[in-house]
This record gives sequence, C-alpha cells and structure tokens, in this order.
Amino acid sequence: MKIGVIGGGQLGRMLALAGTPLGMNFAFLDPAPDACAAALGEHLRADYGDQDHLRQLADEVDLVTFEFESVPAETVAFLSQFVPVYPSAEALRIARDRWFEKSMFKDLGIPTPAFADIQSQADLDAAVASIGLPAVLKTRTLGYDGKGQKVLRKPEDVVDTFAELGSVSCLLEGFVPFTGEVSLIAVRARDGETRFYPLVHNTHDSGILKLSVASTDHPLQALAEDYSSRVLKQLNYVGVMAFEFFEVDGGLKANEIAPRVHNSGHWTTEGAECSQFENHLRAVAGLPLGSTAKVGESAMLNFIGVVPPVEKVIAIEDCHLHHYGKAFKAGRKVGHANLRCADMATLQAQIVKVEALIAE
Ligand code: AMP
Repeated sequence: MKIGVIGGGQLGRMLALAGTPLGMNFAFLDPAPDACAAALGEHLRADYGDQDHLRQLADEVDLVTFEFESVPAETVAFLSQFVPVYPSAEALRIARDRWFEKSMFKDLGIPTPAFADIQSQADLDAAVASIGLPAVLKTRTLGYDGKGQKVLRKPEDVVDTFAELGSVSCLLEGFVPFTGEVSLIAVRARDGETRFYPLVHNTHDSGILKLSVASTDHPLQALAEDYSSRVLKQLNYVGVMAFEFFEVDGGLKANEIAPRVHNSGHWTTEGAECSQFENHLRAVAGLPLGSTAKVGESAMLNFIGVVPPVEKVIAIEDCHLHHYGKAFKAGRKVGHANLRCADMATLQAQIVKVEALIAE
C-alpha cells in the first residue's frame, strides 16, 4: 500500500519509519527542498495548491493523510475527488481554526477557557472588558509552538495589540491558572473503534513543548476520554487525534486539538505496544488498531535548536535517540529523546541526565 502524506517534516518521517515494516510505501508533498521525510520515500516538491502535483500524488497513492493541519481547504477538496483522504476535510477545517475548535467544544459541553472572536481592536477592547485580564490573544489560524499569540496582563498590553499580531482574525481567551497541562492521544478506526493512550503530562518553555511524561492511572483519564470521544464521534474522525487540556480545579479545560500524530505522543514509539505513528497508519488504512498499552515508564524530551552529541545521548541507559536530520536552527525541533524505564524513580533520574546534556 502506498500512502501520500501532505507535509514532509519529522512527523511524516516518523510515520514512514512506522509504516515501512507494515509493507507501506510513502510519497510526501512538501515545497521545502530539504524536507526531512524525503529520506524515507518519494518527495514531490511542490506547493500545497499545485494541482498538477496534487493530481500526480492522488494517482500514485492508495490514500492521503496529513502531518500538519494548516493545509488549505481547497487542497483537501481537490484531492478528495480522486483518492480517499483521512482525516476528513471537515476535521481539518475545524482543527485549523481556533474559533471553530472552541465553538465545537462549547457545543459539545466540553469546558474551555472563556473565548471571543476578534476582528478588530474595538472587538479586542470589548472582549477584554467582558473576559478580563490576564488573557491570551491568539491568531485563529497558523499559530504553533507559541507563535501568533500574546499574553495580555495589564491594560497597556491591550493597546494596538490587534495590529501587533498582524490585524488578522484572532481569538481572545481567558488566562487559565492551570496546575498542569495534559494531553490525550486517541486513535479512531474507520469502523469507529476508538483507543486511547494514557494521559501525558506536558511541560512547555516559551510555548514550545519541552518534556512529556506518560502517566499511570491518571485520575482524569476517564474524563479526558469522555470529552475526546464526543469530538471524535462528532467529526466521524479517522486516524490519530491529540487533545490538549489544562488541569484546573481538579477538572479539565480543553485547549486545542491536533488532527494528526502529536509531539506529546512521541514517547509511544518505544513506550507503548503500538506507537501513535503505526496506529495512525493502521486507522487510515482500514487495518485493525494496535494496543495503546504502556510498556514501562516513559518520557520524551525535545531537542530544540540542536541535537546533543549522538554518542552522549545514546550512552544514557534506557535512552532512545530520534534525530530528524534537519538543519540546526534556534527554536526549531530537530530531534527528541525517548526514555523508557522499569520504574518511575529510574525514569526521573534519567530525565535529569538528558536535561543536563541539553543544558551543556
Ligand atoms: P497553544 O498554542 O494554544 O497550545 O498555547 C501554547 C501554550 O501557551 C500552552 O501549552 C500553555 O502553556 C499556554 N497557554 C495557551 N493558552 C492559554 C490560556 N488560555 N491560559 C493559560 N496558558 C495558556
């Protein structure tokens, strides 16, 4: 089976690493000459709106999936005429726009921060008056890793901020005084069967994920699964979806969804019976889902800007290096380390060692 992937970054690369043993081949559509997934399959180097290349991709593959959500809706609509596309155009339309996303949470009775649509500075002033400060202003689309957002703490922060974010459609959210951030990775098959990985505790630095630790018997697991199930059913979703939540007042508030494999699920490569990458491919290909059970205690640490010397990373016991083969650049995710240990105490000790390497 040949899978077409829109986007040729590290997520595409890791999908191919998981799918190749299943006998799958891959073609990636990505305009970047140095797309790091290209090492694992065919690279169609073209813009996402290039209909000739989209048609070529559709002709060559059995189905198309995505490794990022900011794909133009027209691209999905065009491809869907010729080849099955998972997840659906509707799932992407909602997940790529924070207003649609939060409105869906609200409609499904899933708690979220207070939010308002912002189309002008006047909208922002009015929304700040009703939601209050602190608050977070985010662009509705194209934001990632903390980009396209600003925390507003005092009235001076609000002045001219709509223009500062580019005078584009935005969302204002109440600031959530969270005690923690967790994510749930779910996979839903074509027949509706759904499986969940254990909740993951996430730590961010300047909006970029730094550390994920898989939990055991988290008290909010059932609640997170309930909220996520509502979204998956509503969208008749097929594939892996990630749900990010704030832990607050002993409950959860939904932050956002990602209609794809997710950075906070990277630990599953060594830490679960079947990884998020393999399960995404199984789901979109109509194959039986794999077990989401955890194997040992796991964590993932991102390498941002630079991968430490390979020999030092792999010298750490229980440590698995994932190098994306990308050029090193400040603020860019260029690799990660997965730790899988027999018990939590060992895991915590090994996390400290990887953190020390990152700080060197
Ligand atoms: P996002 O791009 O929406 O995932 O935001 C990136 C990070 O900013 C989150 O993981 C949080 O650490 C922080 N953040 C985003 N929205 C809020 C909010 N409404 N209240 C508090 N912190 C937030």
